[in-house]
This record gives sequence, structure tokens and C-alpha cells, in this order.
Amino acid sequence: MVDFVVVGGGPAGCSAALTLMAAGHSVTVVSTPRMTKKPMETAVPQLRLLLRSIGAEEVLTACEPCHGIESAWEQPRPILKSSILNPYGHAWFIHRETFDATLRRLAIKAGSVWLEAEASDAIFGPDRVTAFTNGEEITAHSALLATGSLAWTARVTGQTPGRLDALICYWARFDAQLTSRLLHVETSANGWWYVCPGGITTVDVCFVTDSAEARACDPGNANNWNVEFQKTAISRDLSLQMSAKEINVAPLMIGSLPTRCGPSWAAAGDSAIRLDPIASSGTATALNSGVRAARTLIDSWRGNAKSAVEYCRWGSDLWEKFATQRQQRYAALALKYPEGFWHRRVSLITIEKIAE
Ligand SMILES: Cc1cc2nc3c(=O)[nH]c(=O)nc-3n(C[C@H](O)[C@H](O)[C@H](O)COP(=O)(O)OP(=O)(O)OC[C@H]3O[C@@H](n4cnc5c(N)ncnc54)[C@H](O)[C@@H]3O)c2cc1C
Repeated sequence: MVDFVVVGGGPAGCSAALTLMAAGHSVTVVSTPRMTKKPMETAVPQLRLLLRSIGAEEVLTACEPCHGIESAWEQPRPILKSSILNPYGHAWFIHRETFDATLRRLAIKAGSVWLEAEASDAIFGPDRVTAFTNGEEITAHSALLATGSLAWTARVTGQTPGRLDALICYWARFDAQLTSRLLHVETSANGWWYVCPGGITTVDVCFVTDSAEARACDPGNANNWNVEFQKTAISRDLSLQMSAKEINVAPLMIGSLPTRCGPSWAAAGDSAIRLDPIASSGTATALNSGVRAARTLIDSWRGNAKSAVEYCRWGSDLWEKFATQRQQRYAALALKYPEGFWHRRVSLITIEKIAE
């Protein structure tokens, strides 16, 4: 029997595995190889400190500096929020494939057993957890759930996830080179666009919308997506007057698990709380919660139940703060666009209801 089984080997699972092993525990990570392509991400400046805290600063080789955000959110022309005054330094663009691969390599180097398999279920007994996979069956003292899926974690822990919103990201990768090292953001009547010029020879352009707008304008069709993108000021300002050939689709379910830990399990990352990419903090939060969830399990192992209460409180505070700030950001645009996408965002379940 292994001390801990970590289900899911993304940022949350790897930071948890590194934390558990640093405390001298045996760890098996069960993870499916990532099937879906991910766009370039932006992360808060605290990313460096988080990686350093788990001995994984090397992962920054998969990142590039992002010197600020140029955003036309409430105003017609973009306003630059530079990183220069940020005490934590500049933000980061993350190449997710290399980022995840480097974390995985460090977790294996630190001594975790890495099982490439899909976990279908986890059964929690009085003194052990069994994770069922399409490969081996893993028995452990406790489990750290980090599949990136609220639905999966909710199912195995017998909960119903609280859903705040469901958005969809339609994104394309251009072969282009930009001198800009900024994240560019712009709103339109039916959603919002952002451009990540993080690659040396590629640029990712993402359109975030909802299913009602998607049904109306079909942005999954490259012709429609190109027409919509060419209407934006960023496409002109950055001279991105080119056509995307392939449009990738990523669902963005935003929500939270009502309970994020139990007697022999803790959930971390998107499995516990899924944020809107508007916050540029999903990956950093996943790393952070992986560490916190791992410490909670270690403390429970040692008979200290206080950490579990603190971890749940930390998650609730994070979620409430995020939901409030998100609501304010979307509400600001609902005044400009009194119906459609923006109106739907502010008429969603209220924060009081989510906190219930
Ligand atoms: C379109 C889009 C844009 C985004 N942009 C940003 C951004 O700019 N900045 C930011 O910070 N965040 C962004 N995010 C969010 C960010 O990607 C997530 O918050 C982050 O990946 C969460 O990490 P995680 O480890 O919890 O989950 P994941 O990264 O999803 O990792 C989960 C891992 O578990 C594995 N797995 C899944 N199911 C199973 C199973 N049943 N058994 C075993 N293994 C399993 C998966 O293969 C994966 O390796 C974005 C997300 C999307 C979809």
C-alpha cells in the first residue's frame, strides 16, 4: 500500500506530489496523457515564488515574461497596466505542454511512481482508499484528487458541484512573430478576445463566449471566427490580418466543489475550484492548492484535523473573492451591452446563492 495516490498529473497533482514526497511519503501519480491542446496561458507574477516553494523553479524555462496587460475592457481604447510597479515582478506566458512535461519530470525525479492510466473511480474505506484505473488498482492511505474536472471529483466524493457559469473558448494559433510582450484584451458585443504573443514564432488568439452566442455566430467555423476577429481593433493594432485555418474549442466550466476535503481525501486545482481565465490565475492557483491540499493530508495523517478546516476556509475565501471580482468585471460591461452575452453574465446566480 502506498501512502498517497494522486489522481491527475497537471500542475495541481504535480505540486501535491512534490510536497508529499518532500515530507518523506511514498506517492503514486495516476494520470492520463493530456489529449487536448491548450492555448498559451498567462500567469500572475507570484508563479515564480510558487514554483520555488516546491523546488520546481526550473519549470520557468517553459515560460516567458509578460510585461503587462493592454486591455480595452470598459473603455474603447486599450489601457496599459504595466508590470513595472508590481512588487512580484512581471507576469508570465506559459507554454503549457512543456510546463506540464517539466513538472512531471521533476515529480518522477523526486521519486513518485508515475502510472499513465485513467482513473475511473475511487472508493474511500475506513483505513484506505482504492483508486480504480484502466491499468492497475492502487491502494493508498489517502487520495489527492486533481483531475482538473469538478464533475469527476464531485462524482467520486458524492457531491453536486456548484456551477457559476459555463463559457466556451474558441482559439487559434497563428504562425506570426510579435514584438509585443503584453497580453492584449478586447471586448465585443458577444464575448471577449485575448491575444497571447508568447511563442517565438506563434501567437495564440482566443475568443471567449457562451453557448447562446456560439449558436448564433458559430465561431467554431474558421470563416466565421476569422470574420469576427478581423472586426477587432487588436487584429489591426497588432497587424494580425491573417486567417486561422483551424479553430480549437475548450469548454470553460466555472464553479466550485461544496466540500474540498474529507477524512481520507483532498481535492486540488480545477478539481476543487475552476476559475475564469479572466483572472489569469487558474494555473498558479492549481499549484498553490496542490501544496495546501497535500499539507492537509499530511497533517490529517499525523492526527491534526485543524488543517482540513483551514484548507476548506482558504478555498471558500478564494472562491468568494473571485466570484465577487468577476461579477464586477462583467457587470461593468453589461451597462455598455444591456443584452446578450454581458447581460447573461450579470443575471446569473448571485454570489449569496453560491455561498449557500
Ligand atoms: C481555454 C483555457 C484558457 C485558460 N487560460 C488560462 C490562463 O491564461 N491562465 C491561467 O492561469 N489559467 C488558465 N486556464 C486554466 C488552467 O488551464 C487551469 O486552471 C489549470 O490547468 C488547472 O490545473 P489542474 O492541475 O488542476 O488541472 P489540469 O491542468 O486539467 O490537469 C489535470 C490532469 O489530470 C489528468 N486527468 C484527467 N482526468 C483523469 C482521470 N480520470 N484519471 C487520471 N488522470 C486524469 C489530465 O490528463 C491532466 O494531466 C485556462 C483554461 C482553459 C480551458
